[in-house]
Amino acid sequence: MNETQRFRGLVRSTLMSIRCQKIAISLDTLTITGTDYAYIALAMLERPDNVVGMSVRAENQGGASASMRPSNPAAGQPIAAFSIPIKPWFAGTYHEEMIIVHESTHASFEARTGLALRALTNEALAYLADAMYNKLGSPGDPVFDPVNGERPPPAKKLTQESRNVLIAASNLARLAIGRPNGTITRAEISVIENAVANHPIYADLKANPSLTDTSRGIRLARTPSIDPAVRHVLR
Ligand SMILES: [Zn+2]
Repeated sequence: MNETQRFRGLVRSTLMSIRCQKIAISLDTLTITGTDYAYIALAMLERPDNVVGMSVRAENQGGASASMRPSNPAAGQPIAAFSIPIKPWFAGTYHEEMIIVHESTHASFEARTGLALRALTNEALAYLADAMYNKLGSPGDPVFDPVNGERPPPAKKLTQESRNVLIAASNLARLAIGRPNGTITRAEISVIENAVANHPIYADLKANPSLTDTSRGIRLARTPSIDPAVRHVLR
C-alpha cells in the first residue's frame, strides 16, 4: 500500500466513523451532517480521473498535515483534491484524523455546486467540525486537549494564536453538541472567525474579510471504476 492509498483509506474510515457521523452543525440555512462526510468518503472510493471524484496529491508543501484544494481548471487542477506532504508528520495519528475531518468539511462545502461562502466562515466551520469530532468519541477513544495538548513531533509547539482558534472552536463545539441539529448563531461562529483572522497563517483572510468562494461541485463517478485496493469497503 502506498502513501496515497493509505491516506485515502484513512479519509474513508475517519469520515464513516461513528464519531464523525454524529457531527451536526446548523447555521442559518447551512447544515452539515454525517451525510456530507459520507459523500466525501464516497468520492474517495472512486479511482479519480481528471473529471470526477476526489484525488490525493502528494506535494512537498513543507507542512505537517493535509489541505483541501478546490478544483481550479485554469491551474490544471480539474478535480478537488486532498493535498498531502510527501512526508506527512502526522501520518496514521489521531491528529491526522482531526485534520481529515477539518479538510473534509471544506470539501463538503466545495461539493455543493454554487454555494457562496465567506472564506472566514468556511474556515471557522471546519475548525468547529474537527472540534466536534474531538468531543464525540466514545470512552477510551483518543481525544486532544486544546489548552495543554501538543501535536506529535516533529511538529512545532502550538502557538497561542493556534490555541486561541482551537479553544474557541472547542467551546462552541461543546454548546453545539448539546443543541438539536447543532444549531449555532452568526454571533457564535464569529468568535471563531475572529480567532482565525488573528492567526498569522490566515493574514490574507484578515486583510480581506469579505472574501467569498463559490463552490464548483464534486461529482461522483458514474462508471464502476472502483479501486480494487479499496473494494472491500463496499461489502
Ligand atoms: Zn481549513
